[in-house]
Formats: sequence, C-alpha cells, structure tokens
Amino acid sequence: MQPPSVFAVAQATLNEAGRLGGIDERALEVLQEPKRINSFRLPLKLEDGSFRVFPAHRVHYNDALGPFRDGTRIRPDLTLDEVKALGIFMTIKHACADIPAGGAKGGIQADMAALSPRDREALVRAYIRHLQPKGPWVDVPGADIGTGEQEMSWMLDEYEQITGEHCPAALNDKPFALGGSLGGEAATGRGVFLVLRAAAGERGMGLEGLTAAVQGFGQVGSELAQQLHDAGARVVAVSDVHGGVFRGEGLDIPALRQQARTHGTIGNFPGTEPIDNDSLLAAEVDVLVPAAVHDVIHEGNAGTVRAKLVVEAANGPVTTAGDALLAERGIPVVPDVIANSGGATVCHFERSQGLSDESWDLERVNRSLERRILAAHAAARDTAAETPGASLRHGAWIHALRKVERAMQLRGWI
Ligand code: NAD
Repeated sequence: MQPPSVFAVAQATLNEAGRLGGIDERALEVLQEPKRINSFRLPLKLEDGSFRVFPAHRVHYNDALGPFRDGTRIRPDLTLDEVKALGIFMTIKHACADIPAGGAKGGIQADMAALSPRDREALVRAYIRHLQPKGPWVDVPGADIGTGEQEMSWMLDEYEQITGEHCPAALNDKPFALGGSLGGEAATGRGVFLVLRAAAGERGMGLEGLTAAVQGFGQVGSELAQQLHDAGARVVAVSDVHGGVFRGEGLDIPALRQQARTHGTIGNFPGTEPIDNDSLLAAEVDVLVPAAVHDVIHEGNAGTVRAKLVVEAANGPVTTAGDALLAERGIPVVPDVIANSGGATVCHFERSQGLSDESWDLERVNRSLERRILAAHAAARDTAAETPGASLRHGAWIHALRKVERAMQLRGWI
C-alpha cells in the first residue's frame, strides 16, 4: 500500500487537531486546501543552446493573519503535494510564533546542480518575473532547499528591476549586504536548541551531560549540534545522507563541522565508529533530533526509538503512525511547527528591518527569537495539557488554529 502523501498527513493533523480543539467546522473547511495555487511554466534558453521548460508553483495557503510568506524550494522531484503541505505548515508555524503572516510556499522542479551558474540565475529571475501577485504586503518569498543568499539576491534584484524601486522587505533570506538579518543562517538551529533545552528541562534533563543524536548535519543539524556541544551536552551520534559517526564520550562537533565544510561529508572521522541512519534513530540517548528529511520515523521503526524525547528539526520527520506509536510508548515529540520555527521567526525580523530601514544587532535578534519561540513552545504545551487526548503536536496546531479561526471570523470569511 502507498503511504499517504505528505499533504494528506498534514490534512489529517489539521482535522484531528480541529476536532480535539473544537475548531469551527467552517474554519476547517477553508483550511482543507490552499486559498490559491499558482502553477506556471518557465521557458528557458540554456547556455548550451538547448531549450527547457521548468514547472513551477506558488501556493498561497491562508492569509487571514497577514501577507503570504515563506520559502522557495528548487529540486528535481518537487511535487505540488509537497508544496501544499509546506504551505499549511507555514500557516500554522507563523500563527504559533505570533507572526502576523500567512502561510505560503513555492518552488521550481529543476536540478540546480545540473545547470550552469548563468542558467541558474536566469531560472531564478524568470521565477520572480512570472510570480503573481507579489510584494512586501502581498507575498514575500524566502529561501528553502536549493535556494540560498545568492538566489535571493537575484530574486530581489529582479523584483526591484520590475517595480523600479528598492524594496528589501519584498524578499527574505537575503545576504546582510542587501538587507538580510544578522543571525538568519543560524536561526533554525538556534531555535531547535532553545526549544530542546526547554522541553528537556521540563522533563528533569539539564544540558550538562545530556546525550543527543542528530540525524542530518546540514545548516540546521550542524548548528544545533554545535550549540548543544557548547552548552555541555554530549552529542554522541550525527549523520548525513551517506551515514554517520558515533562516539560514546561525545563527538568533537567543531572539528566535524570543519571536516564537513572541507570534505563535504562527516564519514571516517578519526576516533569515531561508523553508524548507519537506522541505528542512529535507535540510539540510546536522552534526545533524538531528526534534522534531515521527512518520514524517517514511521510505523516500521518507531518501536526501536530509545530516546526519552524526540525534537523535530526537519519538517514532518515523524509519520502519523510513527507519532501514535511513540505516544503509546510514552516518548514525547516536540513538533516541527514549534521546534524549527526559528528561521521563519528571523525572516519576520528581516522583513521588519526592511520596512523600517533599520538593522538590528545580533543580541536583539537572538533575544527576540528566544522570547518568541519559548512562548510558542509554552503555549503548545499548555494547550496540550488542557485538551484531553492532545499531544504536543495537537497543542501547537490547536493554539495556531484558534488564532487563524478568530482572524477569519473577524474578517467575515466564516
Ligand atoms: P541541508 O540541505 O543543509 O542539510 C540536510 C542534511 O540532511 C545533510 O547533512 C544531508 O546529507 C542530510 N540528509 C539528506 N537526506 C538524508 C537522509 N535520507 N538520511 C539522513 N540524512 C540525510 O538542509 P537544512 O537546511 O539543514 O534542513 C534540514 C531539515 O530542516 C529539512 O527538513 C528542512 O526542510 C528543515 N528546515 C530547515 C530550515 C532552515 O532554515 N534551513 C527551516 C525549517 C525547516
């Protein structure tokens, strides 16, 4: 049997949280599908003389709380289903973190690694030209898989060439030189760290000597591992797509990051034992953090998880069936919509800085991030505690849905 699509899983969470939290059925009906789906095609004459048409999407999920906002994913097997799921996640994530923004997501089905730098630039610029509607009070795209500071710089420039005016608030995840925020790159990993520390502390686990396993050693996983290491925790296992490394006394995270930067992988690190991704998920640690891809903890392996707490740094790393099994076994899961909302939160600060022509220092960014993400975590926890049958994930979604529901009522939509 085919596993349910990632959007079907998101809809199931929406409906279950809605039922448990007594959300108005009309609100749930509105939220079953995006408000608007823009699917378009980008024709491109490539540098080698060939011609290709690239499918692209932008999903405007819900904008009851504010302008549409969030990332642009470019990967060869991108699906509309995935973009829709990420659109509803962003609606919930923004509401949880009290960010006055709606949820959106977009992307291009393309293999950036197979394109020349000139073709990459042309593709990204074409995406912004074809994207309608857009602008700082309408839809603010940011980065995601396959896009980074360079792509966002091209998008900003294209947007400003079209409108004829400077508007740094129209795009997020820009480099600092073009109006990006300090602390943006580390924000998601830092947010995961702050939530993990709070959730572990509530369960009597301090960071000193706490053991952790982190799957995925990219922007999020490696930053989180670094912050845990700096705080005195023992990160005993980390992995990337090729496999992982284990050291019971704790890994030398700064040296591993250096190796990842210079060699592109963490394998064969001196003084460590190899560990595969399945064994990492079953490691006997205090906290397990999936920080790579979705659906890695599922019906087939949730029974092998031995951590006392799971913190979702990736989007959707635990399936619905995996979630139910972990709940049965008394292993709490801090959901993605709270744990990895640090990047979305600093994007909010980036847009605020763009609108006000101000630049915040790093201390202000980090302080504001900490306040917001801990408040979101506490609200999800308290809502779960007050709602019979609700997990932390339900608590987060119910808390968010109540805000979206209220905004839709006030606007007269429902
Ligand atoms: P990244 O591309 O920088 O790193 C991904 C890491 O996961 C790499 O180490 C890669 O080798 C590893 N990986 C890929 N496939 C794997 C697999 N099948 N098994 C094990 N490891 C695998 O990505 P990132 O920016 O660190 O994002 C990681 C996750 O966090 C993604 O799910 C992303 O959607 C989510 N996320 C990221 C941000 C952000 O700000 N970067 C924000 C919110 C959510």
